Order: sequence, then structure tokens, then C-alpha cells
Amino acid sequence: MSTALFDLSGKTALVTGSSRGLGRAIAEGFARAGARLIINGTDAARAEAAAGEFRAAGHQALSAAFDVTDEAAIVQAFERFDADGVAVDILVNNAGIQHRKPLVEFTTDEWRKVIETNLTSAFVIGREAGKRMIPRQRGKIINIGSLGSELARPTIAPYTTAKGGIRNLTRAMAVEWAQHGIQANAIGPGYMLTDMNQALVSNPDFNNWLMSRIPAKRWGNPDELVGAAIFLASDASTYVNGQTIYVDGGMLAAM
Ligand code: NDP
Repeated sequence: MSTALFDLSGKTALVTGSSRGLGRAIAEGFARAGARLIINGTDAARAEAAAGEFRAAGHQALSAAFDVTDEAAIVQAFERFDADGVAVDILVNNAGIQHRKPLVEFTTDEWRKVIETNLTSAFVIGREAGKRMIPRQRGKIINIGSLGSELARPTIAPYTTAKGGIRNLTRAMAVEWAQHGIQANAIGPGYMLTDMNQALVSNPDFNNWLMSRIPAKRWGNPDELVGAAIFLASDASTYVNGQTIYVDGGMLAAM
């Protein structure tokens, strides 16, 4: 009974940005829980290679490479899923980018790129998934936020703005779609060891500051997101709507 609640057998999960990083770790967790995977990234070869590795490990996986800022490509991908009889039961809006510089130096184009990649993409892909989940009267949407969904830090203004938007987009999806058996929630990862943070990992000053701030006194490993992701993707969370669960080693709890 307890493990059945978390079983994803027979479910198909589209995880954007799952060719590497946190998306890949979440996809691995879903595969172990029995889900079929749709692996995404902008680099088609990398996405297909990742899908191939999942298949070699005995899981069901296909790749669908598209840029999450390309609305036409997103619409086309969902039309292809429809034509192939692939229903997305679980959507994880994970793909994202970071861009660091002082607020006064950001160009409007740089601002837009971060907002479109981290926030507008979740709206467009969420809309395409939602349209198809509503008639089925079930579905799971997990948007990936950040500590930036709650707090700001110097040099990441568009990212913080986008991730704050993710928290409220999640609520917007929840209030419209909960009545259709769809649960939309978010995960806010703390500082996790991925390519995106390479510049911070190798900066001793930043590391000293971080270790003084994180109650757990360490960086997070990508696979530490898996438990929250499976919870929100599974029948264990059928009455959980519009929440952001922070997986951050206690950082948001600390003064
Ligand atoms: P990575 O840079 O390690 O991986 C990014 C993934 O997203 C890759 O698979 C990449 O694929 C894909 N991607 C990037 N841009 C696009 C795009 N335009 N369209 C489709 N796919 C794209 O990032 P992380 O794993 O660290 O981050 C994943 C998410 O988690 C992001 O939303 C990030 O903001 C969030 N996050 C990360 C934290 C961390 O500590 N790492 C903390 C809090 C939140 P490809 O190379 O093929 O384009």
C-alpha cells in the first residue's frame, strides 16, 4: 500500500531539460518508479543519447528535443504526441537558465531571454499539457522554482523575477485545474551540484558564504529532489494543489 501510492507505472512523464542536471535526476527517479519518459533539451543528440541510456537500463524512454522558448516547436511536439497516441500524464517544467550581472547592466533582450526560458515556457508548455489533461480529468504538473521564488540575491534579477512568477503560475494553474483532477505544484531546489552552478562551486568566497547559511552545511545532490518529485507526480499527492516544496537543506528556514 505505502509503495503503491508512489508507483508511476503506466504513466508518461515529459521532463523539460532532462538531458542533464536536475531534470535528468528527476527523470531517473521517475523511471525507477515505473514511468515512461520523454526526454527533452535543445540539443537533439544529447536528448536522444540520454533516452538511449534509459532504454539500455530497461526503462521506456523517447526523446523530444525542442527549445522551450519556441512556441511553434512546443505546439508541434504536442501534436506529434497526439498523433503517436502519447498522453503526457506528468509534466515537469524544469528547463531553465541563469544569467548573472548587476541589474543596471542587463539589456532588455537578456532580461527577456531569462524570463522566456524560465517562466513563459512553463506557461506555454503547461497550457498545451493542460488542454489535454482537462478532458482526461487527471494530470500532474510540477514547475521547478528556486530559492529565488521567495528571496532575491544581487546579480540575478531576471531569474528571481521568473522564479517568483513560477510560484504564482503554479497557483494560477492549481486554482483553475484542481477541479479537473489535475494537481499543479512546484519544487524549489536549494543550491544543487549541477553545471548551472559550476562558477559558484569553484568560488571559495561563495562556498564559505553558502556553508555559513545552509543548516545542512553542504550542497544538495540532484537526486535529493527525487522524493519530492515522485510525491508530487504520484497518487500520494492527489489533494495537494498550488504548493511549492523547498528542498534546500533548511536554507529558507534560517536567518
Ligand atoms: P543545467 O544547466 O544543469 O541543465 C539545464 C537543462 O535544461 C539541460 O538539459 C538543457 O538541455 C536544458 N535547457 C536549457 N535551456 C533550454 C531550452 N531553452 N529549451 C529546452 N531545454 C533547455 O541546469 P540545472 O539542472 O541546474 O537546472 C534545472 C532547473 O532547476 C532550472 O529551472 C533551474 O533554474 C532550476 N534550479 C537549479 C538549481 C541548482 O542549484 N542547480 C537551484 C534552483 C533551481 P540542452 O543542453 O540540450 O539545451
